[in-house]
Amino acid sequence: MNEKDKYDTYCSICGFPIKKEQVGICIDDYYTVDFEDRSYITLSMHLCLNCWEKVKLNTLGGMKKAIKKHNEMNATDRKEMMKK
Ligand SMILES: [Zn+2]
Repeated sequence: MNEKDKYDTYCSICGFPIKKEQVGICIDDYYTVDFEDRSYITLSMHLCLNCWEKVKLNTLGGMKKAIKKHNEMNATDRKEMMKK
C-alpha cells in the first residue's frame, strides 16, 4: 500500500495527514474573503480532532476571553506570536 493511500486528507492547521475518523470538521468550497490579499476565494479546509478542539476552546469565551488572554501575555510573548 502506498503511504499516501493510508490517509484521506490532511489537517489545514497542524499539517498532519489524517484518516476520515480523525477529521474534526470539514469546510469544503466555502466562498469567502481573503483579507490579506483583498480578494474573494473558495476555501476548503479539513481539521484534525485536536486542532478542531483547540478552535472550539479558543472561540468558546468570545471576545472577552480573547482580550483577557492577550492581556495576560507579556510583551515579549506577543512579539514572538506576531512573527509566526
Ligand atoms: Zn491538526
